[in-house]
Amino acid sequence: MVSVGPVTRHPNLWPPFTQIGSAAPQQRIQAGQGALLFPEGNGVPLIDAISSWWVTLHGHGHPVLAEAIAQQAHRLEQVIFADFCHEPAERLAERLSQITGLERLFFSDNGSTAVEVAIKMACQWWFNRGEARHQIIAFDGAYHGDTFGAMAVGERNLFSAPFNDKLFPVARVPWPATWWDDDAVDDREQAALDLLETCLERPTAAVILEPLLQGAGGMSMVRPDFLIQVQQRVRRAGALLIADEVLTGFGRCGDWFASRRAGIQPDLMALSKGLTGGCLPMGVTMASERVFEGFLGGEPQDTFWHGHSFTANPLGCAAANASLDLLEAAPERFLSFERRHRRHLEDLASHPRVKRPRLLGTVAAFDLNVEGCSGYLNPAGPTVKRLAMRQGVFLRPLGQVVYLMPPLCITDEQLDKCYLVLRNALDQL
Ligand SMILES: *Cc1c(COP(=O)(O)O)cnc(C)c1O
Repeated sequence: MVSVGPVTRHPNLWPPFTQIGSAAPQQRIQAGQGALLFPEGNGVPLIDAISSWWVTLHGHGHPVLAEAIAQQAHRLEQVIFADFCHEPAERLAERLSQITGLERLFFSDNGSTAVEVAIKMACQWWFNRGEARHQIIAFDGAYHGDTFGAMAVGERNLFSAPFNDKLFPVARVPWPATWWDDDAVDDREQAALDLLETCLERPTAAVILEPLLQGAGGMSMVRPDFLIQVQQRVRRAGALLIADEVLTGFGRCGDWFASRRAGIQPDLMALSKGLTGGCLPMGVTMASERVFEGFLGGEPQDTFWHGHSFTANPLGCAAANASLDLLEAAPERFLSFERRHRRHLEDLASHPRVKRPRLLGTVAAFDLNVEGCSGYLNPAGPTVKRLAMRQGVFLRPLGQVVYLMPPLCITDEQLDKCYLVLRNALDQL
């Protein structure tokens, strides 16, 4: 057992997703390097096995990202983006347009706003055409962010309960999640597709989904072919398809984007998290030229009246360009990451505490085979977290769902250790 760094509960801070009355106090971290976080004092380094809430793509303290941000900070740190433009933004737009197949880039600040923008664009696109299409369809278990519009399309649950009366109505379709040796997935997929078709009989503005992987909803994965089937039905109904790739983008799912891996082409795509390599907050919404053209015209009401103070922040753009440089220089790091997990997960899959093992790119997940509720509040998750932390691995299970989502830079030895520690924790349950 290792000692952890000093713990603090600062009187002026309000941490996210935390019940202050019962949660363990936060630990102070003084530095990060690669996959490691260094607590203050004599605390032993922790392996950041969840990429600091799924953002840290290349590892902490990456010199290339740090240098790109520093250089940009000396040149131009921020400028109003309505009247002015800059090279880092243009370059980023060209590159993302190339790899997403969506021509237009709209900037915002985080994943939630990138989703908000996509939803607003979809709604206004129909409004501008004078076509009354109001329905939005989303999937059970979805998570799209914590602002109101993003909450509305997300699963209604404990977190959204105080606001449910303020959230616009959304049609819901089951998410036919699957895992290794799942023999009932065909039926679940068919049921979901049937319901989708029924929903699409009503005039629909857009369908929003997290391609291949629902993250916060429990690392739940669907088959590529299901998404192709969804896309066919959405196209037939003439609705727009929004891919929320805030989590799955930039190599997380073993390809540049989950849409690409699944073989679908959305009309709108929300990106954030790994966009800047996880260094700086930034979101973008990619839109097809067809969507963009729906906002052209002489009338003021055709305009997309939306923007943020820090739109296209040059530091964020510089970090994003540097992160793309790193991904382009060594795509095998994300293309072959699944192989690094597979051997370990196959070993672990026979553990009596493990059920529904599943794997996608850098994300390996399973459900804990334990008694109790199946939701976010199952106490087995925090137990695993505590046991792993004591042995130097930072995990943050989602209820009874345990997952690893390390940064691409994690070494083989560090990954071995994650699985060893995880096995030890499961043994002790
Ligand atoms: C994290 C996440 C969001 C919200 O992003 P924030 O930057 O936390 O606002 C939206 N969609 C998905 C799929 C996410 O994983």
